[in-house]
Amino acid sequence: MTAQEKNFWLQTVAMPAHGSGEALPETADVAVIGAGFCGLSAARALAKRGVRVVVLEAETFGWGASCRNGGMVLTGMKLPVPTLIGRYGRDAVQRMYAASLESIDLVERIVKEEAIECSFSRCGHLEVACKKAHFDAYAAAAEEIKREFNHEYHIVPKSELCAEIGSDIYYGGMVDETSVSVNPAQYVDGLAAAAHRAGACLYEHARVSSVKQQSSAGNKRFVLETARGTLTAKEVLLATGAYTTGATPALQKKLIPIGSYIIATEKLPAELAQELSPRNRMIYDSKNFLYYYRLTPDNRMLFGGRAAFFPETESTVRESAELLRKGMIKVYPQLANTKVEFVWGGTLDFAFDVMPHSGKLDDMHFALGFAGHGVAAATWMGAKLAGVICGDADDNPFSKIPFPAAPIGLRSGNTWALPLAGAYYKIMDWLT
Ligand SMILES: Cc1cc2nc3c(=O)[nH]c(=O)nc-3n(C[C@H](O)[C@H](O)[C@H](O)COP(=O)(O)OP(=O)(O)OC[C@H]3O[C@@H](n4cnc5c(N)ncnc54)[C@H](O)[C@@H]3O)c2cc1C
Repeated sequence: MTAQEKNFWLQTVAMPAHGSGEALPETADVAVIGAGFCGLSAARALAKRGVRVVVLEAETFGWGASCRNGGMVLTGMKLPVPTLIGRYGRDAVQRMYAASLESIDLVERIVKEEAIECSFSRCGHLEVACKKAHFDAYAAAAEEIKREFNHEYHIVPKSELCAEIGSDIYYGGMVDETSVSVNPAQYVDGLAAAAHRAGACLYEHARVSSVKQQSSAGNKRFVLETARGTLTAKEVLLATGAYTTGATPALQKKLIPIGSYIIATEKLPAELAQELSPRNRMIYDSKNFLYYYRLTPDNRMLFGGRAAFFPETESTVRESAELLRKGMIKVYPQLANTKVEFVWGGTLDFAFDVMPHSGKLDDMHFALGFAGHGVAAATWMGAKLAGVICGDADDNPFSKIPFPAAPIGLRSGNTWALPLAGAYYKIMDWLT
């Protein structure tokens, strides 16, 4: 069994549908490497502006994180607001937060414009407190979000939590009604179809093994060696996420690949599904080593977590299945006898500063570091990069911030220190 073979979302789409069986063209204006949310959103936006764009995907469309995620389209960023303001200043952080809201609106706009059937729903998200101290901090966090960004969260005390979740292990919760749920594989499929309709040429099984810049008569161009031949392009857009390889070493050095795993149960009876998640929210808990969970559109419990810190392999996927099942039953004892039908893993793209980044490296455009917020953020960043390539002013607040390299030992391709980082976060969960 491979991780991908048991991915629930992939059972709901019939990809690939939009790839070209033809030979690669010799030239393109823009070569996009990677066909996840970021690459496909960029390709769609570029093609709509008349740019000759070729998407090169090593495997199949959405093969990376984009088809493997929880489908939670969440507001905000991973770091707490005071940390962000301390680092980047109030003005920049306000623009970042606005971008996070705008990115959800963009997903909604694309879904509507392109008529993508992906169970898009403005269902809101619920964060649940694993400790009393975590709940006590929610009021201040909600006040901060209101003051700094004029955005509303509402606090749910323990006494009212049963209206939100059929579990009594938590100390309370915090809800943001703005967040969304999608079926990520159907969204990828719809994005690929939209990019294709707009004129982008999409190639699967076209792994890029090297990118070299050449210059003649003052004109720069890139020569890409791929599994399907050679392509020359004026611009390159790297959208390879956590699956970035040594073909683009400068980007690979920036990346910390972290494994995350998901199980999905058999279909639940409607009354049980309603009891577990009465408002059908996207739910995650307050730990560093967190659980995230939701119902699927056909009423399965989809339950994920960072059950192992290494990128996915067959054995980490297998081990994660049992760990996650135990975690799920702690939250929902009602599921003790429910069958787990699917388990899969994927790799998250973390930057060392836990921020998304975009800009240029070795003269190539890139966007990376979406961590657990990539459904909306990668869509948005892809569209923004397309704008920059077409000559729009770069108003992306994430392209102006410093982008630290990951320390050796946490870097993609050299990850011996990842279990130590995992142990650190587990200890922090006991202590804080
Ligand atoms: C288990 C899991 C759960 C998650 N849950 C959520 C969630 O609920 N909400 C949320 O917002 N985010 C979530 N995320 C994160 C989100 O899925 C990612 O941030 C997002 O999909 C990144 O999109 P991307 O387009 O940048 O990269 P990817 O989707 O990873 O795509 C990169 C692609 O590049 C290709 N590639 C790499 N190298 C080459 C090469 N040399 N040549 C050609 N192609 C190449 C890969 O094959 C891959 O398909 C989750 C991630 C995981 C793994």
